[in-house]
Amino acid sequence: MQNDYDVLIVGGGLAGNCLALALKDSGMRIAVIEANTRQTLKTSPAGDRALALSAGTVTMLQALDIWSGIADKATAIKQIHISDQGHFGKARLSAKKQGVDALGYVISARDIESHVAELVERAEIEQFCPARVVGLMSGLQTVNVSLKQHEQSLNLSARLLVGADGGQSSVRSLLEIAQQKTEYGQTALVTTVKSSLPHKNVAYERFTSSGPLAMLPLNAEECSVVWTRSHEEAEQLMALNETEFTEQLQQSFGYHLGRLSLSAPRRAFPLTLIRAESMQQGRTVIIGNAVHQLHPVAGQGFNLGMRDVVQLAEMLQQQWQKQGDLGEKSLLQDYAESRIKDHDHTIGFTDNVVKIFSTDWLPMAAARSIGLAVMDQIPAAKNVLAKHAMGLAGRLPRVGNRG
Ligand SMILES: Cc1cc2nc3c(=O)[nH]c(=O)nc-3n(C[C@H](O)[C@H](O)[C@H](O)COP(=O)(O)OP(=O)(O)OC[C@H]3O[C@@H](n4cnc5c(N)ncnc54)[C@H](O)[C@@H]3O)c2cc1C
Repeated sequence: MQNDYDVLIVGGGLAGNCLALALKDSGMRIAVIEANTRQTLKTSPAGDRALALSAGTVTMLQALDIWSGIADKATAIKQIHISDQGHFGKARLSAKKQGVDALGYVISARDIESHVAELVERAEIEQFCPARVVGLMSGLQTVNVSLKQHEQSLNLSARLLVGADGGQSSVRSLLEIAQQKTEYGQTALVTTVKSSLPHKNVAYERFTSSGPLAMLPLNAEECSVVWTRSHEEAEQLMALNETEFTEQLQQSFGYHLGRLSLSAPRRAFPLTLIRAESMQQGRTVIIGNAVHQLHPVAGQGFNLGMRDVVQLAEMLQQQWQKQGDLGEKSLLQDYAESRIKDHDHTIGFTDNVVKIFSTDWLPMAAARSIGLAVMDQIPAAKNVLAKHAMGLAGRLPRVGNRG
C-alpha cells in the first residue's frame, strides 16, 4: 500500500467531506481520516440538530453536486420573524421582498451529513475510518501523520494536511495553535415539535429574557427548536417530563403556531465560542469548526465553514494546475489571509447578537426594541440583516470545480 498523498483531510464531518468532494475530480491523491465509525456517525444524538443553510451555502452545495440529493429533505425559509419577548420590537424579513425564492433552507444535520458521507463513499475517495490522528510533523517536502486504527499504528505522508476535525480539533492541539475561548455559560436545547397551526415556511427567532429561542420549519409538519438557556436552567428543563417541558416551551414561544407537541427527544449542547489564533502552520491548514466554533444563535457555523471549504478548494486547484506545491507556505498564508475578514465579520456578528440579546438591562432592551422596530420600517437596514441571513454579507468565494 502506498502511503503518500497530495492532500490528507482529517475529519469526515461536513467540512472535511465537502472538501473531499470539491477535490474529487482534480487528479490529486486525497484521503479522509475519520475517528468514528459510519454507524456511530449515523446514530449520534448530535445528528438531531437542524441546520439553517444560507442561500450562499445552497449555491455552493449545488455547484458541488451535493444539493440535488438532499433538496427534497430541505425546507425553504420564506420569512424570518424576529421578536423580543416583553418588548415591542419586531422585524420581519421576506424572501419575496428580497426578490429571492428562499432566504435559506432548513435540513436535519443527519440528512446532510449522511448524504455527503455517501457521496464520498460513491466517489471511491480513500478513507481511513475509524482511525484517529495522534501525531503529525511537518518536514520540508511532506507532512508526516501518525494514525491509530484498530489499536494499530499507521504512518502516512502528504504535501498538505487539512484539519477539519471539529471544535475539539486534535490537529489544532497537536500543532499547539492557541485558541480564544468564550464560555457563554449557556446550553442549546434542541428538539422537534409538531404544531396545531402550519408554519407556512416562517422561521421564528424569539429573544427572551432567559435566552434566544429559534423555531425553524423542518418539514411540512414539524419545526426544529433551538432554545438557548443558562446551563442551570437547561439542566432543570431537561429534568422535566415531556408535558412540563412543552408547557415551558409554549410559554416562552407563545401561540404563533398554535399548540406545540414534542416529536423528538431533547438534546443539550453546551455553547462555547472557540477561535483558533492561526489557520495554518507548516504544511497544515485548519478549516470549519476546527478554526471557529460559534454560538448557533445566528445559524452561521457550517455556513462559514462551507466558505472555508470552497475557498481552499479553489486555491488548491489553481496551485495544482500550475504544478505548484500544495503545502507551500505562501499558498497557505494567502488562504488564511483571504478568509480572515469573513471570519472576523461572522464571528463578530454572532457574538454581538448573543451579547445584545442576553441582557435585560433596560437601556439595552429599549435600544434593541427600537432597533428591531426601526429596522422593520427601513428597507436598507433590513437588507443588511437579510444579507447576513442569506450568508451573503461575508465575501462569497467563487465556487470550486464545476464553474
Ligand atoms: C445546536 C446547534 C445548532 C446549529 N445550527 C446551525 C445552523 O443553523 N447553521 C449552521 O450553519 N451551523 C449550525 N451549527 C454549527 C454546525 O453544526 C457546525 O458548524 C458544523 O457541523 C461543523 O462541521 P465540521 O465538519 O467543521 O466539524 P464536525 O461536524 O465537528 O466534524 C469533525 C469530524 O472530525 C472527526 N474527528 C475529530 N477528531 C478526529 C481525529 N483526531 N482524527 C480523525 N477524525 C477526527 C469527528 O469524528 C467529526 O466527524 C449548529 C451547531 C449546534 C451545536
